[in-house]
Amino acid sequence: MMMTKTLWRGVVAVVVMATMAASCRGGGDETAPAAVGAQADRKYLLERVGDAAVAQIYADGFAALPLDQKQLVWHLYQAALAGRDIYYDQRYAHNLEMRDVLEEIITHPSGVDPATLAEIERYTKLFWLNTGPYNNLTARKFVLETTPEAFAAAAAAAASAGATFPLQDGETLDAMLARMRPYFFDLEFDPIVTSKTPGADRDILAVSANNLYVGVTMKDLASFPERHPLNSRLVKRDGRLVEEVYRIDGKYGAQIAKIVEHLEAAVPFASEPMAKALQALAQYYRTGETADREAYDIAWVQDRNSPVDTINGFIEVYMDARGQKGSWEGLVYYVNPEKTEGIRTLAANAQWFEDRMPWDARYRKAGVTGITANAIDVVVETGDSGPITPVGINLPNDQRIREEHGSKSVSLANVNEAYDRSTSAEFRKEFAWSAEEAERSEKWSSFAGELTTNMHEVIGHASGKVSESLTTTPQAMLKEQFSAIEEARADLVALYFLPDPKLAELGLVPAAEQHEIVLAEYEGYTRNALVQLRRVREGSQIEEDHMRNRQMIVRWLMDNTKAIEVRERDGKTYYAMTDWQAFQAGVGRLLAEVQLIKAEGNYDAARALFELYGVHFDPALRDEIVARVDRLNMPSYTGFVMPRLTPVRNADGAITDVTISYPQDLTEQMLEYSGRRKPM
Ligand SMILES: [Zn+2]
Repeated sequence: MMMTKTLWRGVVAVVVMATMAASCRGGGDETAPAAVGAQADRKYLLERVGDAAVAQIYADGFAALPLDQKQLVWHLYQAALAGRDIYYDQRYAHNLEMRDVLEEIITHPSGVDPATLAEIERYTKLFWLNTGPYNNLTARKFVLETTPEAFAAAAAAAASAGATFPLQDGETLDAMLARMRPYFFDLEFDPIVTSKTPGADRDILAVSANNLYVGVTMKDLASFPERHPLNSRLVKRDGRLVEEVYRIDGKYGAQIAKIVEHLEAAVPFASEPMAKALQALAQYYRTGETADREAYDIAWVQDRNSPVDTINGFIEVYMDARGQKGSWEGLVYYVNPEKTEGIRTLAANAQWFEDRMPWDARYRKAGVTGITANAIDVVVETGDSGPITPVGINLPNDQRIREEHGSKSVSLANVNEAYDRSTSAEFRKEFAWSAEEAERSEKWSSFAGELTTNMHEVIGHASGKVSESLTTTPQAMLKEQFSAIEEARADLVALYFLPDPKLAELGLVPAAEQHEIVLAEYEGYTRNALVQLRRVREGSQIEEDHMRNRQMIVRWLMDNTKAIEVRERDGKTYYAMTDWQAFQAGVGRLLAEVQLIKAEGNYDAARALFELYGVHFDPALRDEIVARVDRLNMPSYTGFVMPRLTPVRNADGAITDVTISYPQDLTEQMLEYSGRRKPM
């Protein structure tokens, strides 16, 4: 299955008590979380840019890793950075050129008008956070809010100060700016990066501005034997379809060669199973062949115990309207042993949950095997996974390999921590119906969010099997509906089992507090359907799959149960969760339906479900929500500044240590990554 990253916690952000989860579990004092302790006053929230927040990720455990693991991480870190530009190019064909222009201006600012410079800096930060001019949540374009003339004057001033621009053969600076003007200024030019539901008669590939297809429509694909669905760009050339395969001597060959070089440098420092996986990955990057990808997926899943791991490749398919093409990403991380205990407990008991899934017994797995679950701290995330990062990941996406060899699931502990510590508490007060609800959220939403994220990944995505009569994969059957169905399934599993006494028995929740935790999660999940509308400031459609799934679940419960009431007070709308038992029962019914849709590959049913409940919303309601969050100055999303690694070498050039530091500055890090600033 492809779906596999969890973006935000279902709940409206979170707060101060983020890291107290572990201490709360034992009923400890939540006002003095030991885990925070010494670092309580360090900077998490770095700045606000438009409706985004920028926060720093910390990886405290890195310094204590043994030297061979630090060296391993160092090489994998370089491999992750080496692929960064691939994702820029995949997301938009003009991205790299646009980035060059922007970065040249802001690194040569001396003669630039200050007001124009401030706007270019604002735009550039959003461009970096979103990897190009498309908002990651709405998929819609954003533009420079200055005039083309002021922008041209800024570029000319930068050129006088020594900036060099990406001019094409014989092109003047003015001609270049005229050519690029629609990219920076025209909202109607390539307006949306991925459009899965563009309306009747419009083609999902033709209207999507990403660079995964060039001149191709769904009709062209009807009879095309696609050999590399995951790792190629499809281009129509002289009336013929050509697959440009991502591999060492193919598309992105130069970047891939660098990645492979660093992966191979990492091998001597890796455990034996991990070395095998890294070599298999290098082989796949060389050939681009599906058989090699499968061999790599299997080797990666079979490496269950390495304390360090990486994800590097063309993985998630959210950006492709067809749900086939992988976006490149690179992550490097190490296991966080304290936080892993709970997630391991869930994984060890996966069969217990599988046997009690509220769906037809035909779709329950007999022997749930090989779920490897860890809480991890990321050291770096690039491409599709950074600066905007998931909070949970479950891979591989290949359904057959998952069923035969299992999957690995990680919860990104230090990302969660940075989210929590960079967010304010005003939010839940604004959208909670009662003071008790706000207090419950304050006290438990962080704990409940971490637990349900783990459940979503470990017993959610990893669960169930498809119908024996299904001759192809669910994603091939469900197409653009697949991701949202799969996310709904995983969320519903977590919501369904949250009140189960088994969780307390396993020590995952304190028994005396479980009821409050259930209420906090159900209330927060319900509020989120309202609050998440702030992320979609244009139009009246949700494009992002996780948002669709969460909208669908709450609206389905509103229509089919008595669990949720829509209320109004002082002209403000509230979604109030009033009956947790009705909520849980409804979740069970919907989960059975969603599993049936996946297991049988019922496209029409999936589409009908999301059309009715998940895609469309009332823009007047959204406007109300936006006005309320804007009064509180709350961000719609958060991007992260990654830790920085620096090798320490002896006189012979051999690495004797690797140090970690925290730039606490988005601009500095992005310019470093682009090679425009030397690492400090
Ligand atoms: Zn998920």
